[in-house]
Amino acid sequence: MHIPDEILLELVDPATGEPVGPGKIGEVVVTLPNATYPLVRFGTGDLSISTDEPCPCGRSSSRLVRIVGRIDQVTKVKGMFVHPEQVEQIEKKIPEVESLQLVITRVGHEDQMTIQAALKSTASHSDELRSRISEVAREITRLRGEVVFVDRADLAGEERKIVDKRKWE
Ligand SMILES: [Zn+2]
Repeated sequence: MHIPDEILLELVDPATGEPVGPGKIGEVVVTLPNATYPLVRFGTGDLSISTDEPCPCGRSSSRLVRIVGRIDQVTKVKGMFVHPEQVEQIEKKIPEVESLQLVITRVGHEDQMTIQAALKSTASHSDELRSRISEVAREITRLRGEVVFVDRADLAGEERKIVDKRKWE
């Protein structure tokens, strides 16, 4: 998806409104300098990722890789927005992992993130793998989480990448 020259398109961090770089998830914000119907920094509510890598078609304008979801799918943990797509990014970086699920709980006034990791049958549990998962998760979500190895059957609902167990009272 190339961005037409007449549109100013920004991807911004939903929390801070600051622009995010290529490869990072941000909300699509559009400015359209059209005389009859101008839009100024219109937040679409769609989350996307941009890339500045050269396109096979030869055009050099920047482009969106894909729409990754809606802003209402994000979960706020310790002030950071976490999106299911980020969990998929973590999965892709660790070949031993079959499926990951983030479980968010609250202890006192603190959010806690537990990373439940179901491994492929060929992989085995190790401290090295545990710290690698934790490190990649921190790189992508900017959050620390405790890694727990589980059986795939123990993941609550196959498709749910983030389970929010916090009680809001
Ligand atoms: Zn292209």
